[in-house]
Amino acid sequence: PKSEKENTNVAKIKVVVRKRPLNKKEIARKEDDVVTVSDNSLTVHEPKLKVDLTAYVENHEFCFDAVLDEDVSNDEVYRATIEPIIPIIFQRTKATCFAYGQTGSGKTYTMKPLPIRAVEDLMRLLRQPVYSNQRFKLWLSYFEIYGGKLFDLLSERKKLCMREDGRQQVCIVGLQEYEVSDVQIVKDFIEKGNAERSTGSTGANEESSRSHAILQLVVKKHVEVKETRRKINDVKELPGKVVGKISFIDLAGSERGADTTDNDRQTRIEGAEINKSLLALKECIRALDNDQLHIPFRGSKLTEVLRDSFVGNSRTVMISCISPSVGSCEHTLNTLRYADRVK
Ligand code: ADP
Ligand code: MG
Repeated sequence: PKSEKENTNVAKIKVVVRKRPLNKKEIARKEDDVVTVSDNSLTVHEPKLKVDLTAYVENHEFCFDAVLDEDVSNDEVYRATIEPIIPIIFQRTKATCFAYGQTGSGKTYTMKPLPIRAVEDLMRLLRQPVYSNQRFKLWLSYFEIYGGKLFDLLSERKKLCMREDGRQQVCIVGLQEYEVSDVQIVKDFIEKGNAERSTGSTGANEESSRSHAILQLVVKKHVEVKETRRKINDVKELPGKVVGKISFIDLAGSERGADTTDNDRQTRIEGAEINKSLLALKECIRALDNDQLHIPFRGSKLTEVLRDSFVGNSRTVMISCISPSVGSCEHTLNTLRYADRVK
């Protein structure tokens, strides 16, 4: 059928890297840009010292589905990642898009516009005759995973819990879903959720780098039930059935996974949790790529929550964000090696 043919045109897993420009601080410190991009590959020029302390440069080359240089706009990022997936969301696809990278590498900058553009395109499709005469509706939710626990970012950080029904569907009990009727609502929700995220419970700004923020857009089909025994126009609407879903995940700073030797006990626990979830995520995507029957969801809260997006007709986009500066060289290489394992 046509739908299947269309589906196969969109890669199951896509790994792209986005390099951000040097920021003011890095320029003021006269830090070198050590990343050069050409087509879909990039090279990191790592400065090193020999035993006799003479300097040399070690070059590391990587190749990905796409490499987006510092002059690439957010709109171009959208077109390279999410746009091709939008039509197949109506064909029972569950898509997931991750932003991975160290704190300050551009994850939030990259992620924020994507659901907004996705909603524009989804709503345009919903208005087309093929869809508009079916009862499709678009729903949005936004929550975070912090220290292995779930919090609703659109509902005063209400604590949530996860349940699985018998059919491998993940249910987050108490999570507020909002019907999306226009793009402005989505912008407002993202602002609200992001503010909730960065202030957190202690008001510390850097807390956001220790949480995974998950924004989900769900297309549901709502069935009307006519109660013919009573009045003819007595129509009621049942809760919708999920047709497709797209999740945008602004991951915790990848360097936080190394916080396992910090002096502060809480920081160590959170670091271990982040480390566990990023490793589990990598394993799940790899299992998915190899069409493995057993996907190791159980490894972490993050992968458990995403369980239903890893089975069946799924699509995964990993956007690895990197800083160009020499000072971030080690983190950049770690990010690229992670992305390389996933691709
Ligand atoms: P992260 O979420 O990974 O911690 P941010 O998205 O907050 O990082 O980005 C850090 C800073 O760099 C922000 O001020 C952001 O505006 C800026 N920035 C990130 N990526 C880009 C880019 N591609 N172009 C211009 N500025 C960027
Ligand atoms: Mg961020």
